[in-house]
Amino acid sequence: MYASIITIGDELLIGQTIDTNSAWMAQELNKIGVWVKRRVAVGDSRKDIWQALDEESQSAQIILITGGLGPTADDITKPLLCDYFAGKMVVNEMVLEHVTAIFRRLNRPIIERNMKQAEVPDVCTVLMNKRGTAPGMLFRKGNCIYISMPGVPHEMKGIMTDEVLPLLKREYKMPFILHRTLLTAGVGESFIAEKISAWEEGLPSDIKLAYLPNYGMVRLRLTATGANKEQLDEQLDHLFAELHVLVKEWLIVAEDIPLEQALGNLLLSRKKTMATAESCSGGYIAHLITAIPGSSEYFKGTVVAYAYDVKEDVLGVQHSTLETKGAVSEETVTEMLNGLLQKTTADYGIATSGVMGPGGGTDDKPVGTVWVAVGSREKMIAKRLHFRFDRLKNIELTATNALLMLFQF
Ligand code: ATP
Ligand code: MG
Repeated sequence: MYASIITIGDELLIGQTIDTNSAWMAQELNKIGVWVKRRVAVGDSRKDIWQALDEESQSAQIILITGGLGPTADDITKPLLCDYFAGKMVVNEMVLEHVTAIFRRLNRPIIERNMKQAEVPDVCTVLMNKRGTAPGMLFRKGNCIYISMPGVPHEMKGIMTDEVLPLLKREYKMPFILHRTLLTAGVGESFIAEKISAWEEGLPSDIKLAYLPNYGMVRLRLTATGANKEQLDEQLDHLFAELHVLVKEWLIVAEDIPLEQALGNLLLSRKKTMATAESCSGGYIAHLITAIPGSSEYFKGTVVAYAYDVKEDVLGVQHSTLETKGAVSEETVTEMLNGLLQKTTADYGIATSGVMGPGGGTDDKPVGTVWVAVGSREKMIAKRLHFRFDRLKNIELTATNALLMLFQF
């Protein structure tokens, strides 16, 4: 079963909005055994949307559309779909009641434009949108089904979860698409490919191996597709265990979870805690960690020690260290880490200090130079790193590398 995703909106084409809808939909479709064959973004243009509908129905049976359902003039999807499927607009009482109730609850007057949301083509099945006013719509033509949803991500997700995914599961008998993913760090993808080439060549033809490199880390994903879930699980588990052994040296976690979650799980299993003292990463490491539910079990907190005086007053870094060695130095990050572990009860800590750019570099500490110290009261390591990207990427990589360093403990 193949799907195609059409996202609509000029904002997607000019790069103002990043199309996160397709990525989320593709993941959810994959989970129920639907392959996404193509993803297309088109502007708010009648001709382009029409053409996309024609083209996508050539290669897919399920066509998911988001965007352009709003009550404003630039939102043209609904009338266009009405014409495309040769229907006429009628008021849907259920949607009218829903829209009116929303405005009543908000205590806002409802205007003609909002009432328009309750008009839908008479040839569609309405998919209720509990989180907003624009309903989803389902059309059938030939052997394709077309589903149109609002562009607002949380409204689209609601309709997908409540209506679309259950409907697709009922309607089609799908194969299972199962994945196993592990994360490695420290070596590049070609190095790993060399090491596992004999094993990779011996993989059954219906099992796919993907290399997903990402700045010093490589995710390896095994995918199997088929009708018998138990058999696929068994086959994948067996191959995954073999892969595990082959890449053991560089293995960080054998699950498809973010690095910070893997670190959290490790701390939880050891009943240990951590804290951070962040200069150049500005609290970003703490943000990553606290975005994981349950992190309060192992994360004590952070000090964003950006200025000299905060490094001194809060973390106890020596003024002379900052003066003689500079803020971006092994000595400073080590003193930051020592201070952090003295002032908190955390078992492990991370300290960062660096020149993130675009300005501020010197000959011996060019932009992108970062010192990171990690460790416990018993043992610490400090490392000088260098990144050549823009400010935000440098911050991100500082965080990733600092987290990776803590895995060594
Ligand atoms: P509404 O009825 O709420 O107006 P709509 O269908 O008209 O919804 P749009 O006006 O196209 O939706 O977009 C609404 C919001 O959703 C905008 O902020 C837009 O940037 C965002 N959005 C639209 N398409 C996508 C997408 N593919 N990925 C992520 N965000 C999107
Ligand atoms: Mg729009």
